[in-house]
Amino acid sequence: MTAAPPVVGLDLGGTKIDAALVAPDGAVLARHRLPTPAADGPEAVLEALADAARAVRGPHATAVGVAAAGVIDPASGTVTSATDTLPGWAGTALGSGLAARTGLPVACDNDVRAAAGTELADAPGASLLYVAVGTGVGGAVATDGRMVHGRRGIAGHLGHLPVPEAAGLACTCGAEGHLEAVAAGPAIAARYARVTGTEPGPLQRVAERAAQGDAQAAAAITRGARAVGRVLGGLANALGPDRVVVAGGVPRIGALYGDALTAAFTAELMEPLRDLVIRPPAVGHDAAILGAAALTRTLPLHIPRTTGVPE
Ligand SMILES: [Zn+2]
Repeated sequence: MTAAPPVVGLDLGGTKIDAALVAPDGAVLARHRLPTPAADGPEAVLEALADAARAVRGPHATAVGVAAAGVIDPASGTVTSATDTLPGWAGTALGSGLAARTGLPVACDNDVRAAAGTELADAPGASLLYVAVGTGVGGAVATDGRMVHGRRGIAGHLGHLPVPEAAGLACTCGAEGHLEAVAAGPAIAARYARVTGTEPGPLQRVAERAAQGDAQAAAAITRGARAVGRVLGGLANALGPDRVVVAGGVPRIGALYGDALTAAFTAELMEPLRDLVIRPPAVGHDAAILGAAALTRTLPLHIPRTTGVPE
């Protein structure tokens, strides 16, 4: 095998940009971190992404992969929609804008989907159901080894499935009754505050109260966990995944969460799927950046000095 060149992986979040130079075998050769100038608008964010790439690229990098917050359409390279975390981000020409600034071909996708792609590295051809539960609820779906992107990159947004536990609750997308409104970390903390008449605090405090025997705290956590488990179980019946992964910070708050999630998931499964187990992510905190680098091999590349039309 000839030595293939490294590529740059970028992970764009609301507060920071992580950059890495990644070898073909996934080894990280260099790293850099910058704050995200979110309040300065999308042009400033593109400049910061280019700066981060410049800091790690060295003389040999041949392409840039970006895992970005927001709904990203890999085909057009544009941001389909985004939350207030990155003001003005929706509509940004991420692929062509970054290609023009770095002079390198650029592939881009949503950060959760990019991270989920690392699950297919050791399971080529597998079908995958992946959910990330944190300040929001994101997800990704792959069938027969191919990540599903869907119209304008919207596929995999599992947080916006309707669930009975969220009836009447406003969702960040503008609709009501979606999974994210009951299962995201802030949603669990908000429910605990509502039922106890207290000020909303961090999820960690709710978890600590639950560990001390506070039944309302435990109920808020298990309500969110069960909703995620039921959605995953139902989707598993619809999609027949080989692997089901639950990622993000919320599932790490304690065994209470995982037990409720697993029980709800298993209860939904049709008989041929009964051996399915929920797994933690195969790759740890580098999943998004390694997934970003891998996008350069699986997605359309946006070439420098074009007018934004992908090849
Ligand atoms: Zn929603």
